[in-house]
Amino acid sequence: MQSAPSHLKKMDYSVLQQCMHCGLCLPTCPTYDATQLERNSPRGRISLMRAIADGRLEPTKAFADEMYFCLGCLACMTACPAGVNYAELFEHARAEAEQSGVLDSPKRNLIRNFTLRWLFMDLRRLRVMGRLLRLYQSLGLQTVLRRSGVMRMLPKRLRELEEMMPRVQPRLSADLIDPVTPAIGTRRYRVAMLTGCAQDLMFSDVNRDTVEVLAHNGCEVITPIRQFCCGSLHAHNGEWNLAQQLARRQIDQFAPEELDAIITNAAGCGSHLKHYATLLEGDPIYAERAQLWDSKIKDIHEWLVQIGIIPPVGPDAPSQTVTYHEACHLCHGQKISRQPRQVLGAIPNLKLVELAESTWCCGSAGIYNLIQPEMANDLLARKVDHIRNTKADVVATANPGCLLQIITGVKRENLPVRVVHSITLLAEAYRRMAS
Ligand code: SF4
Ligand code: SF4
Repeated sequence: MQSAPSHLKKMDYSVLQQCMHCGLCLPTCPTYDATQLERNSPRGRISLMRAIADGRLEPTKAFADEMYFCLGCLACMTACPAGVNYAELFEHARAEAEQSGVLDSPKRNLIRNFTLRWLFMDLRRLRVMGRLLRLYQSLGLQTVLRRSGVMRMLPKRLRELEEMMPRVQPRLSADLIDPVTPAIGTRRYRVAMLTGCAQDLMFSDVNRDTVEVLAHNGCEVITPIRQFCCGSLHAHNGEWNLAQQLARRQIDQFAPEELDAIITNAAGCGSHLKHYATLLEGDPIYAERAQLWDSKIKDIHEWLVQIGIIPPVGPDAPSQTVTYHEACHLCHGQKISRQPRQVLGAIPNLKLVELAESTWCCGSAGIYNLIQPEMANDLLARKVDHIRNTKADVVATANPGCLLQIITGVKRENLPVRVVHSITLLAEAYRRMAS
């Protein structure tokens, strides 16, 4: 049987050639900052990728490990004066690593088969798993185990994983949001809402808040009950073909021709969803529709600022001091930095205090905190230190992974800070206005 062509060899070579080795990205790279090693820098990684594309190097385990030590935070893209498309390089490099099989082991293959190739390919399965987890949490079993001291007997890594296990919401998006939510007042736009996978299990309330905010801003919102994963998890973890399959399903379900915008409130998903055209390039049926799709995908903050926020008003708004952590895939992946601050600025009595290193990764980075816990914990501790220094009551951010990571961090440090999606703060302001 003929093997599939190398990902790095078949990709557009001009993308591999963009790097001019200036090193301006190095100070912005968290892994280089931690080790000061060239191979852990964007420049070093791009050299490795190019060596493989040129046939000077075979994909080895060391190469694959390096690609998985990279956070995929894309800070290097923001810093790069040559416009290197690191996001595309990174996805091809991880796909190359997977295709080469150098990381294969029975345990790793089992986990990947179960999660990427089964669980996240049909969100009904994920929801069943979520409901089982919810049962474990709500029946008190989790509390009993934590109090009994059994947890202390587990290895440190398992204890950490248990600590990070998110609470599943009692009601998922389909229970909270109608398939069609009418605009409040005059209908200005017709949009669709993507409820996500992890976002739906752990932050379905944020999805409900997003729909409410859209309705307050004159949008009729279509929220199909059965939705698919956007495929970002697959693309970032080397499963290129599955990511393509999921992209086609999304385009078929949402028909971008019939909508003014397709809204996401999860930065990691948004960054991936806006690049279906690259993912489906050359696809005879979907390539053209993917371009239209990309133009219709909007992050919720981006969309609200684009259409003009109708500001909530109300004399009784409580005063709150809020700091804002910028999710990598919002600020670096989508270049959206100003709009979330504008959204927060529309809330009465809200004082925004800037967070030092607000664009520095918190260590969540998809599943990075699961596969590289040491580096992820260092980044989290650094983030929590900065949060503490702001003396803010609230940390706002716009990605489920960052929310979970920062919630874990402030809990560890007993920091009395509320961690919340920025859109929830806006939704609360509208609710106060209506009451
Ligand atoms: S994506 Fe982040 S971790 Fe990876 S090379 Fe770029 S800056 Fe460094
Ligand atoms: S800043 Fe851009 S061009 Fe310069 S080394 Fe980094 S990736 Fe290459």
